[in-house]
Amino acid sequence: MKAAVLYGAEDLRCETVDTPECPEGGILIRTIACGICGSDLRTYSGGSSKAQYPSISGHEIAGEIMESKNKNFPVGTKLSIAPVIPCGKCWYCKNGIQNQCDSMRMIGTAEGIPGGFAEYVSFEEDMLENGCFNVIPDGVDPVDTVIAETASSVLNAQIQTNIVMEDLIVVIGAGTIGCLHSEIAAIRGTKEVIIAEMNPEKAQLARRQGFQNVYNLSSSDPGLKELVMRKTEGRGADTVICACPVGQAQADAISLVRKRGKVIFFGGISQKSAAILDTNAIHYKEITVYGASAYSPEVNRRALNLVLSGQLDAKKFITNRYPLEDLTKGYEDMIQGKMIKGVVVFE
Ligand SMILES: [Zn+2]
Ligand SMILES: [Zn+2]
Repeated sequence: MKAAVLYGAEDLRCETVDTPECPEGGILIRTIACGICGSDLRTYSGGSSKAQYPSISGHEIAGEIMESKNKNFPVGTKLSIAPVIPCGKCWYCKNGIQNQCDSMRMIGTAEGIPGGFAEYVSFEEDMLENGCFNVIPDGVDPVDTVIAETASSVLNAQIQTNIVMEDLIVVIGAGTIGCLHSEIAAIRGTKEVIIAEMNPEKAQLARRQGFQNVYNLSSSDPGLKELVMRKTEGRGADTVICACPVGQAQADAISLVRKRGKVIFFGGISQKSAAILDTNAIHYKEITVYGASAYSPEVNRRALNLVLSGQLDAKKFITNRYPLEDLTKGYEDMIQGKMIKGVVVFE
């Protein structure tokens, strides 16, 4: 089969490798589509400390079962597959916090389990039992479902931080994550969401795709603060979500939120990008700062349902499609901010 094999930082080769075998109790799928994620780019660029080489990335998978040794997963079924496989045994798993599992395994993150940037992928029985394998019904374009994986992380964040029916939310960053936060907050009843994006092309792209209230402003721009204050009679936003990997944006978020407001840090930042937070403001304004990461299989199922029901319009997000041979081009386009969501689509 054809696969995009990562041999090291920025050393990606599309080559012919052995097709995996269907394991006892498991399945073998033919990949239909696999989303390109910011974390794939980080691994490709050499920014993942856990990466093993050579490896096959890709964790936002849509595929069709070609061979099955598991009666619950018959041949011909189309599946939406997300990477997290909680162990089911640790303290967190037993307490319903599977996204913080102590022994979490991941599909397609270059940590040992091959992913979807290949024509075929096999999955073992315990992955099927503990992971995120959901049926794509007939009548739904499987390519659309790849957005469900990123949407799961976003939905987890909004559930954990109880974002429901707020007046004004500010999202910093108009990438896949920022745009998803905006749409999902709207689905959960938020009156107005502002997206601040410093890259003019990215802001333009998001507007063209139909996202509302996208302003070409950096998080530090006084114009953004003025706008937020004007819309809230000088209070500040109910919630500010940092959907960009920049420490300064995290620091700026504190100054945009109202008293008793919430700030969500979504996405890791590099060491050199770290900024100093105004902890006095957190104290006096009674601001709550949250982190949010990954999702449980249950939240993945709920996010997929948003796509399957059409509440979340995948077409607004999927801006770029690539054949497997052009995955490197996909990463380059992502670095340049030329996409909201890129997807590798197989023949
Ligand atoms: Zn992803
Ligand atoms: Zn666990």
